[in-house]
Amino acid sequence: MDIEDTLLMIPGPVKVAPRVLRAMSKPMISHRSPEFGRIYDDCRELLQEFFETKNEIVVMSGSGTCGMDAAVGGLIGSDDRILTITNGKFGERFTEIGNRYGRAISVDFEWGMPFDLERVEAALEEGVKAVAMVHNETSVGIINPAREIGRLARKHDAIFIVDGISSIGGNEFKTDEWGIDIAITGSQKCLAVPPGLAIVSVSERAEEALNESSGGYYADLRAHLKSVRKKPTQTPFTPAVPLFYALQEALHMAEEEGFEARRARIARLAEAVRAAASALGIELFPVLNEYSRYSNTVTAMKIPPEIDDEKLRGGMKKQGVVVSGGQERLKGKIFRIGTMGVCSEGDVLRTIQALELVLAKEGVINAPGEGVAAAAKALDR
Ligand code: PLP
Repeated sequence: MDIEDTLLMIPGPVKVAPRVLRAMSKPMISHRSPEFGRIYDDCRELLQEFFETKNEIVVMSGSGTCGMDAAVGGLIGSDDRILTITNGKFGERFTEIGNRYGRAISVDFEWGMPFDLERVEAALEEGVKAVAMVHNETSVGIINPAREIGRLARKHDAIFIVDGISSIGGNEFKTDEWGIDIAITGSQKCLAVPPGLAIVSVSERAEEALNESSGGYYADLRAHLKSVRKKPTQTPFTPAVPLFYALQEALHMAEEEGFEARRARIARLAEAVRAAASALGIELFPVLNEYSRYSNTVTAMKIPPEIDDEKLRGGMKKQGVVVSGGQERLKGKIFRIGTMGVCSEGDVLRTIQALELVLAKEGVINAPGEGVAAAAKALDR
């Protein structure tokens, strides 16, 4: 099937609006010019609303992991320890990065299981410079308790780093209220910009704690912070200029819709996916406790035992709808539907319809219809 006719429903990269794609085709400008400075300033101002923060924001040319690398590398030197809390693939990435620069003490939960705050607090007693967690663990579709971990980090005087890559702008995410010193997102998720930008907010407290000698040369938060204070505002190295055009346009789109309204739309879409899953007898993957919730930006579901991953996702793809499978140890066990950015009600209904047709064809359900009906009902609320 032609990619122009394909509906991309994975948890990032996501569908990009035509006006954002068009913005990228503008002529190049100098990245040291006042014109670029104005674009960057406009983005940074709107991003503060997006992140719900007054902290300084820098935009780095690189994917989301570049932001994680910059945060951990900037803070953790060979003599430092960082606490990482994991219940999925991206939490484990923080552990790997922590061990690259210093030492990570990881509190690990099974993939898809919720955090146990007592275990986290016990680990904090050991003394660490920073705590890192993933808010929306994309690999398993769970929202982890950033507010509560933020409180613990403050109590133990640790810098608090949160990967909000698949969360900021989609789920509730309160950088300042939750005491997040470094928050990170990626352009290809809730912003609905093509991949290639890592966006990082940095508190004064985090900036003061940045290590003089550690970290990489390119993803250096100190260099980025220095450059945004220059006139005109700039980046230390040549940025991906077309992506900045796209970011500015996408942020204006979000502002026009309203940041709150956008999150409410995404919440409704996810509610519809969950309602359809329930109607079709499909189990959601994550296990929740009082501190965790189902993600609104990615719904992870168990693959019914009567069908395999290839038939399910392959069958949906034949109908022009692309969804994600499980990663690593969850390969073949779960599938994931993304609802981020400019995803619409029609997109969700088309996705559920494709899912139902495959399930009916493979004999998992008797006839299609109940999933779409349940989703439509949820959207109508
Ligand atoms: N963290 C989370 C929660 C993610 O969802 C992703 C990507 O899916 C990443 C980190 C890695 O981001 P990137 O692939 O942009 O480097």
